[in-house]
Amino acid sequence: MNIPQPDGAHGMDDHCARIAAAGWGVCARPTAMGSLQDQVFRLDVDGAPAATMKMSTPDRVDELALTAEAELLRHLSRARPALRLPLLIPGLDGTLFHRSGGVTARMMSWVDGLPLAAAPYFTIDSLRALGRVVGEVSTALATFAHPGLRNTVEWDPRAALETVSDTLAEVGGTHRPSVVRALDILGDLISRASASDLPRQAVHLDLTDHNVIGGFDPSGVFHPTGVIDFGDVVRTWRVCEVAVAAHAAIGRHPDDPLAALTPVLEGYLEHQTMNEAECDHLWSVILARATICAAVEHVDAQRFPDNEYLTMLAELDAAALDDILAVDRSLARGAIRRLCGLTAHPVDLLARLLEQRPTPLLAPEVVTVGSAWQSLAETDDDTADSAAPKALRLGTRVVVPHRTPIVAPLDAEAVGASETTLTLAFSLDDVTVYLRIEGIVPNVTNGDRVPRGHEVGVAGGADHAGVSTEVGVQLGTHSSMPKRGKVRDRDVWAELCPDPSPLFGAHATPPRPRMTLAQRHRHVAPAQGAYYRTPPEFTRARGQWMYDDTGRRYLDMVNNVAAIGHSHPRVTAAAADQMSQLNTNSRFLYRAIAEYADRIAETLPARLQSIFLVNSGSEAVELALQMARRYTGRRDAVALENSYHGWTTEVFELCTLPGDRPNWRSELAPWVHIADSPDWYRGSHGTDVSRYLASLSDACAAAEDNGGVAAFVHEPILGSLGGVIPPKGYLNEAYDVVRRAGGLCVADEVQVGYGRTGDTFWAFESQDVVPDILMAAKAAGNGHPVGFVACSAEIAEAMAAGSTYFSTPAGSPVSCRIGTAVLDVLRDEGLQHNAADIGGYLSEQLSVLADRHRHVGAVYGRGLYQGIDLVEGDGSTTPLNATAVDAICERLLELGCIVQPTGLHGNVLKVKPPLCIRRSDAELFVSRIDRVLTEREAFATLAGPHTPSTDWRDA
Ligand code: PMP
Repeated sequence: MNIPQPDGAHGMDDHCARIAAAGWGVCARPTAMGSLQDQVFRLDVDGAPAATMKMSTPDRVDELALTAEAELLRHLSRARPALRLPLLIPGLDGTLFHRSGGVTARMMSWVDGLPLAAAPYFTIDSLRALGRVVGEVSTALATFAHPGLRNTVEWDPRAALETVSDTLAEVGGTHRPSVVRALDILGDLISRASASDLPRQAVHLDLTDHNVIGGFDPSGVFHPTGVIDFGDVVRTWRVCEVAVAAHAAIGRHPDDPLAALTPVLEGYLEHQTMNEAECDHLWSVILARATICAAVEHVDAQRFPDNEYLTMLAELDAAALDDILAVDRSLARGAIRRLCGLTAHPVDLLARLLEQRPTPLLAPEVVTVGSAWQSLAETDDDTADSAAPKALRLGTRVVVPHRTPIVAPLDAEAVGASETTLTLAFSLDDVTVYLRIEGIVPNVTNGDRVPRGHEVGVAGGADHAGVSTEVGVQLGTHSSMPKRGKVRDRDVWAELCPDPSPLFGAHATPPRPRMTLAQRHRHVAPAQGAYYRTPPEFTRARGQWMYDDTGRRYLDMVNNVAAIGHSHPRVTAAAADQMSQLNTNSRFLYRAIAEYADRIAETLPARLQSIFLVNSGSEAVELALQMARRYTGRRDAVALENSYHGWTTEVFELCTLPGDRPNWRSELAPWVHIADSPDWYRGSHGTDVSRYLASLSDACAAAEDNGGVAAFVHEPILGSLGGVIPPKGYLNEAYDVVRRAGGLCVADEVQVGYGRTGDTFWAFESQDVVPDILMAAKAAGNGHPVGFVACSAEIAEAMAAGSTYFSTPAGSPVSCRIGTAVLDVLRDEGLQHNAADIGGYLSEQLSVLADRHRHVGAVYGRGLYQGIDLVEGDGSTTPLNATAVDAICERLLELGCIVQPTGLHGNVLKVKPPLCIRRSDAELFVSRIDRVLTEREAFATLAGPHTPSTDWRDA
């Protein structure tokens, strides 16, 4: 282990420098690196690290072992020439050791780079890279043998019982119970591992995040280049190599040991194989290593109480031990076996049971299946916030008449009888299968042997009053199997706790495979892109939370469509009620359309009291454009650069956001004129209103050649750019410019309206203007296709004079009831006020982040429409590159927040959550962004060329 030493090296520096000069002819400046047992120095030559020197007292020098180490390094460097290694450097006299002043010194070449441990967090790719190095080293060492190779060291998992027993007396405090418990379990596990004849070979035994060296890219992916610290090399079980690395990874992912183990093992298996015995015992070996580390490091930390590093390491390893102990061992073994291409359990338990033609447990009494095997259980908030919640039901529940007799399906032994639960064990040749029945009043007691068909109890508790009752049935490989597991481990659980349905005469349910992007790509045309590289499958959403198929929840910070919150019960009720009574088109007379139009009109000024109902934002803009043309008798339109207004053919002509339409300049229709976007941060004129107005005036003038401008289509707050608020006074004067040119001002509030900006219901109100036509959609239906266009009576009449308007489902009773329910909820739940309140807090906090993080260039917007403009962080406004923005969004997803980018360069994170978010959600979001940016900055400092130094002795 590479443990820095706080003191004790003082005074040795000179001695080290003298030995380097005398023994190796090198003039070097030593710096103590620390080790608890030997003195280790880094030697700088000409200001750069060039070598390390290890100085040991003669009693600690086993020359044969050191020769073995030197040979092993030579062997490894030949087998893996690309891997940088600390090769022993012969001295002037050709030997590897130099003795002077009571110490034996050896010098090793410097391995340039950073340890994986320097990372603020380990990405999955980094853990896989660690595993690959372990696999490579392990394969290379398979062919190494040397008489000096030690057969055991204290850190060797094979020696766990001895090492831990030796230190146990000194292990105290809160850590002791875990170590004692682990030791208890290990006795049996290690003897079973020893009996299984695990392959042995030379093993580095310390391939941890501290000893695998390399470089990082800015997204945090680690690229290993070398390996150091061969001090623990030993001949032991081959599987120890990967166990050590896996344990180190688990230490940094303590909440989910199997999630840390998986990529390490996957990487390892790319280079090394594992036989079945190794698969079966790897988890035990990891536990053995974890116990050694927790015990020995606790003792070391106590011995050097001022050494913060040792204290930190001891805490980390104590936590890792607890977390490893908390994992169900049969699950871990099954997961490892599956990763290695084996079945999770060597025996098909269900098939083995059914071969015996079991007597039905309950049949034919089953009334209904209460919850199917492997169905998802509701999780509470705390559990749902975990990256992999335990939400998978491992058994099934059936509803039967109260007091239904329950019989033993096969000859069994009662091994767990309580007031309402009974576990039966069936011995089937080489395996024992356990059946847990819940909701039973057992009439057998522990230890009873019961023949097949014998009644073991009746359904329902003694005080049960109803006519039917629920009985839980679960099969498993041991008597204390958990009731719930993680969806991620579904395939393993399917073997360990198979579907018990055939025991009560029902059909087994095949496990549900996870939904993938590939499945979507089968027939969904690719232009309909999807968020995220490996997206979760979302199965439900409530309020501001979206839940995936594992039961995990994510804070939805991007969805301004679900404005009043996902799946709002009042919307659902209104929709269901109306759907079940009447849903027809707007040409019939029904109450809902009139009531909805009245309610919309209440939110609008006197000039905008005529309402057209539509289905989408695109349709709203399309209709508005047609209305403006009919009213003005003109055709041309002016739009702001970098905006988006919808996908329909005519509307798309107005769109110039490069992310949606990269070639807009060459495709621009002759009737469209583009004015500079009043964007104070990235716009061409900063906050100079007059120049933006001049550009608008030019655009209107350009339309003159074609009969003049009909409409100026714009967002009052620039939603497509992430909520940029135009410089003060712009919109007011812009309306004058357009109206003087004879055009109508057409405000697109599809994104920014509906109380979202907090201080006003409509964004235009905050800009001191009243448009001639207003469009809304998205929030209006809270996800249901509802939108509308509002205008003056004159404009509406001009439309009626020129054409009818009818869009079949628009304004249907169902849409109108939903639209009204949305307005009711907005009002009754004070959501506009909430937008102002939480939005104000977010603005404050995001500005703090902007001060703290160089990657935040600007924060836009207000209320709950905001944007975080990410920049390269070099002091300029250069937008952060797309790969980095993508990596940030992916990392935020990992941390449970959904955010997506927008803007001219796709570098602005849109912050537009459902309006029902609470202060605590905003805090969570800010802390996540803070964390991701902090991590990124840390990775950026780590990233850089870690080229190995040239051989300084030849220079
Ligand atoms: N206008 C704006 C400002 C928009 O952002 C969008 C869609 N993002 C639309 C119109 C089109 O709305 P829809 O997707 O409902 O057709």
